[in-house]
Amino acid sequence: MLANAMLAEDVAGHDRLARLAESLFHPTGVDGVYGRTGVYENIVEALAALISSHRPVRAEVMRFPPVMSRKHLERHGYLKSFPNLLGCVSCLGGTEREIRQVVDRFEGGEPWTDSLESADLVLSPAACYPVYPIVAMRGPVPAGGLIVDVASDCFRREPSRDIDRLQSFRMREFVCIGAPEAIQDFRLAWIERAKALAEDLGLPYRIEVASDPFFGRGGQIVAVSQMQQELKFELLIPVRSEEQPTACMSFNYHREHFGEIWDLATEDGAVAHTSCVAFGMDRLAVALFATHGAQPSDWPTAVRNVLKL
Ligand code: ATP
Ligand code: ZN
Ligand code: MG
Repeated sequence: MLANAMLAEDVAGHDRLARLAESLFHPTGVDGVYGRTGVYENIVEALAALISSHRPVRAEVMRFPPVMSRKHLERHGYLKSFPNLLGCVSCLGGTEREIRQVVDRFEGGEPWTDSLESADLVLSPAACYPVYPIVAMRGPVPAGGLIVDVASDCFRREPSRDIDRLQSFRMREFVCIGAPEAIQDFRLAWIERAKALAEDLGLPYRIEVASDPFFGRGGQIVAVSQMQQELKFELLIPVRSEEQPTACMSFNYHREHFGEIWDLATEDGAVAHTSCVAFGMDRLAVALFATHGAQPSDWPTAVRNVLKL
């Protein structure tokens, strides 16, 4: 009986989100890749402006395209940790004649994609990756921490029909690079700020220690260690259900990982530590619609005021 009741609740929740997706997104024929309506995009823009209003004054703004250097991502160690999520750009190379042959094969109804060659580009899986090599090139960072406000479209190969798990989505981050104490303070302060933001937005939430989805069986060991060291926290919002809340922001402490890879040092010569706070822009927008309804004009006045709607 209880199981049946829970099932009915799941189905109702699923239908509600499916209807929401229909009103907010345009289908593209691929799961997790959507066109966005004006109503939805207005909210993403309002959220972006709200986050900008909380930007630390000394933060430097950097914006990146959806692609980044493949070499840099390889050096980051991404392939070891998340090879299953990575999208690599591939193109047709060669002479005009060779390319023409491939196109002719396609026109003749034959497969053509086996002629693609991987380019020097990957689709960025997170907004902060391009920041570290850029900062490292400039020399030592202040021990008190250098802060970068960064954003990009991100890609992760995790196709799903759930509106809170996309393959192509937008990520905004504040990244801090400096001495370990400054980095810890930065992360703690942002967890508090994020709670206040969620409250201002009328979003129910909880903060939990989390792990990244490291690949394979070896990855599970890394994930356990990450949880034990409390290197990742997430702000979870019940978009689909209370039992399976959605991570809409994350607070990540990379320790010396990126510092060592990119020779990032503080002014006293020590290896810099790094941390980032990430805002899933599409997940936050979806969470707002799932919580307050499909029509922003019907949202609580306090929430509309915070978003300046
Ligand atoms: P999850 O636990 O749901 O897989 P994650 O822990 O892998 O997410 P992070 O790597 O911390 O996510 O990414 C930062 C933020 O980007 C997340 O908090 C989330 O808001 C957003 N995000 C991550 N993956 C997706 C996705 N597939 N679709 C939409 N937003 C995403
Ligand atoms: Zn990051
Ligand atoms: Mg997670």
